[in-house]
Amino acid sequence: MTKWRAAGPDDSAWRCPPGMSKADRATEQDRAAGGRKNRAVSVGTQTILVSVALRRKRDGRRVYAYLRWSDRGRTAERYLGEVNRTTRAGNLAQAWGLAATQSSEGRSPLSAVGSVEMPSASWASSTAVRAVMQGNKGRDTRPELAVRSSAHAVGLRYRVGVSPLPGVRRTADMVFPRVKVAVFVDGCFWHGCPEHHRPARRNAEFWAAKIGGNVARDADTDARLQQAGWTVVRIWEHESPTTAVSRISAAVRGSAVS
Ligand SMILES: [Zn+2]
Repeated sequence: MTKWRAAGPDDSAWRCPPGMSKADRATEQDRAAGGRKNRAVSVGTQTILVSVALRRKRDGRRVYAYLRWSDRGRTAERYLGEVNRTTRAGNLAQAWGLAATQSSEGRSPLSAVGSVEMPSASWASSTAVRAVMQGNKGRDTRPELAVRSSAHAVGLRYRVGVSPLPGVRRTADMVFPRVKVAVFVDGCFWHGCPEHHRPARRNAEFWAAKIGGNVARDADTDARLQQAGWTVVRIWEHESPTTAVSRISAAVRGSAVS
């Protein structure tokens, strides 16, 4: 698998074999996704079939995977990640694995497919899209786990996923009840990170309202907690766990002395 670092992948690891029919391509994609149903995203009354596209990077040593779909005749794509299997079939399957993982972590590019229309009951009818919507407020995302294990490694002890304020249904990712410190690990997309959140081109109004709502809610949570004597630490998912942990430690120590 890591041989590529030296030689780069063969064409057969990413390129579509010449002369493949449209039907063959569809079958290949269905197989990689574990069935056609996993490629289908309902958008309004329409069903969009999502495929994976593989491309070799300009340096010739890496293969990148993209989700691709057609929206009213226009091709849209969303970056998935790097793949590193030796066959095209292996890489397509690995790419679908990435999409599934990202769905469960609430940051799936599949959510972009759904954003072509305003949300409705049927909008979230695809399992993948629903997972993305639910994953928004989900627990145990990868950045969160990284921060938690780093914090644990330096001896910080905390509670996980509890509401610091009774009666307020807002859970912090890490809570230090004795010193009243609440830590939130915020996803760059969903919480409008100034560095990484890019406004959606399609359905800009819907997404602006959605993300704006999250940002306002975060600010309101912070205000309520501060009023009740809590210190709030907000970590961006892009921050290194080391930086995050030093900020958490400072807050915990600071609150302990005051
Ligand atoms: Zn960010």
